[in-house]
Amino acid sequence: MHCPFCRHPDSRVVDSRDYDDGGAIRRRRSCPSCGRRFTTVETPALAVVKRSGATEPFSRSKVVSGVRKACSGRPVSEDELALLAQQVEEAVRASGCAEVPAHDIGLAILGPLRDLDEVAYMRFASVYRSFTSLADFEAEIGELRAHQAAATLAVTGDDEIALVAKYAGAHDPAPPPVHAAPAPV
Ligand SMILES: [Zn+2]
Repeated sequence: MHCPFCRHPDSRVVDSRDYDDGGAIRRRRSCPSCGRRFTTVETPALAVVKRSGATEPFSRSKVVSGVRKACSGRPVSEDELALLAQQVEEAVRASGCAEVPAHDIGLAILGPLRDLDEVAYMRFASVYRSFTSLADFEAEIGELRAHQAAATLAVTGDDEIALVAKYAGAHDPAPPPVHAAPAPV
């Protein structure tokens, strides 16, 4: 591996150790030309199997460029796209397979994208799931609403715990009434 500082074509490994619970190896390298040190992290190659049967290395930048199209005109930053691609890679690697169908990459994109931007999510889902009618959109929007309602309930649940904690041990033992979240539409 060449030196990132002076581009010297070779470097020497001075230390190797397990990283990420053995999922990767971290190597400390030294440049024989400029003497600077740098670190590399080695992970198993992750291959994506395309519909044609051909494989190609998993690429975060491909995930980003695919999602970026769906995010056109939406308030989504490059940092958020990069984070999403990282989440997708982590999810795919967590499946434990060295070769993953391209379709599964799309599936791994849907969850984080839904949390990032709903409009971009609908655009991506409509292509990924090959929507052919308004009914397909309606069904997806219904699921999106159900997911939102579930997320709202989860947040309310945390608030309840926070309120109980806040009022526990107070002189007035009765916590204020907690209003239930609106029922899912
Ligand atoms: Zn160097």
